[in-house]
Amino acid sequence: MKFYIETFGCQMNEHDSEKMDHLLQTGGFELAKDTIDADVIIVNTCCVREKAEQKFYSYMGRLKDLKIKQGKILGITGCIAQLEKEGIKKRLPFIDFSLGPSSIHKITEAIEHAVRKTDFLDFSENGYHPSAFVTPENKNNGVKAFVTIMKGCNNFCSYCVVPYVRGREVSRESSDILNEIKGLVKKGIKEVILLGQNVNSYNKANNDMSFPELLETINGIDRIERIRFVTSHPKDLSIKLIHCFGRLDKLCEQIHLPFQAGSDRVLGLMNRGYTADEYIDKIAQLRNCCDDIAITTDCIVGFPGEDKEAFDKTMELIQHVKFDGIFSFAYSTRRHTAASALPEEVPKEVALERLRHLQEVQKAITLKKNRSIEGKIVEVLVEGTSKNSEEEITGRTRTNKIVNFKGKRDMVGRITDVHIVKGCANSLKGEKPKIKEARYA
Ligand code: SAH
Ligand code: SF4
Repeated sequence: MKFYIETFGCQMNEHDSEKMDHLLQTGGFELAKDTIDADVIIVNTCCVREKAEQKFYSYMGRLKDLKIKQGKILGITGCIAQLEKEGIKKRLPFIDFSLGPSSIHKITEAIEHAVRKTDFLDFSENGYHPSAFVTPENKNNGVKAFVTIMKGCNNFCSYCVVPYVRGREVSRESSDILNEIKGLVKKGIKEVILLGQNVNSYNKANNDMSFPELLETINGIDRIERIRFVTSHPKDLSIKLIHCFGRLDKLCEQIHLPFQAGSDRVLGLMNRGYTADEYIDKIAQLRNCCDDIAITTDCIVGFPGEDKEAFDKTMELIQHVKFDGIFSFAYSTRRHTAASALPEEVPKEVALERLRHLQEVQKAITLKKNRSIEGKIVEVLVEGTSKNSEEEITGRTRTNKIVNFKGKRDMVGRITDVHIVKGCANSLKGEKPKIKEARYA
């Protein structure tokens, strides 16, 4: 039987899809080219923002005919399965099964159940199962791999549905993580990206290794070249963790640290647990330890109660910090969340205008940052061939910037120096350096 997985949402979801892919391929299923070629279609869903949810429902509308006319098996997994529970079968009566994010290890069972044409299967419980951390076969030409180190979230930011759909924080045993990484190294993996909703609160509640200790131990593993982690919460960014940057040679000079808003009043309403000054102070400490660290962030505009003054504070913070990149979103109300009961909604047009303005300002900052790398020689780990040209290969700097340059496929997986000739809006253009020079961006 052939399967096809369509994924909506974040890296966490992409990684969950990789896990299901691995479970299915080792369980005797074959990967299909597309939905038409598939016998089983799995849609891995996201409900963090309204837009993702709308996209999912319109995609399901398009799949409906294919499912019914060609008798395919169709199941949904991930956050919408968890959020809607049994209700999803009422809304999408043509689906065969539904698995919440904590139940994706049951994917083969769910399909077998559907093949036998037994009742609709709802596995939307939110329990913990160690095999939720199964090692997937890595993609990306075997160059880099995501490794889940914790799942769930205890923070309950007032706008966010994640704690309701992904459950409470559970950290994975450090020995398990280290074994997985050692196995990945044997397969030739050069870069590991430690993954969790709140990676830096790893093992906060127990005596196993702390997050900085985990990083230090991974740093000591032979043949790992690069370590990254995502996503961090500013309130859990300890001094010890900050000091890992610049000290651990394999830890890349890059952090994704969502600030969400620049007004302390809004941050309070969001239940973020820090003030704008505290956030800015953490950035200063990071830059103190590692002056060329690249910093990216998430932020929300149009949160209930965000007046002009509060939005200006967000813009001030952006101008002050000068992020390398921002994922910015207009607030959308999510079920169950505390913010859904807040008054003072910001009109949609106002929120969208603020978002447009913010993105325009940030675009110029990102471009300026990328241009400042022109003329420098940077270290690039080659990840694959370019989508645009057969003669181009693509990779990333230690600061996580995409670099495209002329090269052959056999460079994939190798670390090489690249001379940056042009900084563009979302990537860098490079060429092989004529003179070797030990200066890295
Ligand atoms: N655990 C991560 C990511 C959470 S979801 C973290 O805490 O940073 C990714 C981003 O989606 C959030 O950082 C936030 O900026 C955005 N987001 C979450 N809920 C939202 C909502 N209701 N409306 C708009 N954006 C939202
Ligand atoms: Fe959501 Fe906040 Fe948890 Fe991130 S930290 S997943 S934004 S509740």
